[in-house]
Amino acid sequence: MGFKDNIVKQKDGSYMLKSKTKKAKTKGACTVCGENNTIRDLLYQYNAMDMILVRQYIEDHLTSHPKHEAITPEWCEKCKVLKGYRIKLKDEKNN
Ligand SMILES: [Zn+2]
Repeated sequence: MGFKDNIVKQKDGSYMLKSKTKKAKTKGACTVCGENNTIRDLLYQYNAMDMILVRQYIEDHLTSHPKHEAITPEWCEKCKVLKGYRIKLKDEKNN
């Protein structure tokens, strides 16, 4: 942890690209949602920087889609990764 690169140290002391390691496919993958942050960048509910990005996304989306009334970010219940956004459309009848 702490290194912002794409290589990972193996048990024998050698380094490999994260995406080339066999472990990348299984180790670190969430058993509930299957997401794996060693393969791609993911957003997490407990990460303040990620929350800023999520809030910015929601604000941008709501600003550019006036008919979208609300957005609920959906998080994996196990690893807290952002799975997607649930969009609530404005109910036309109530307007
Ligand atoms: Zn998960």
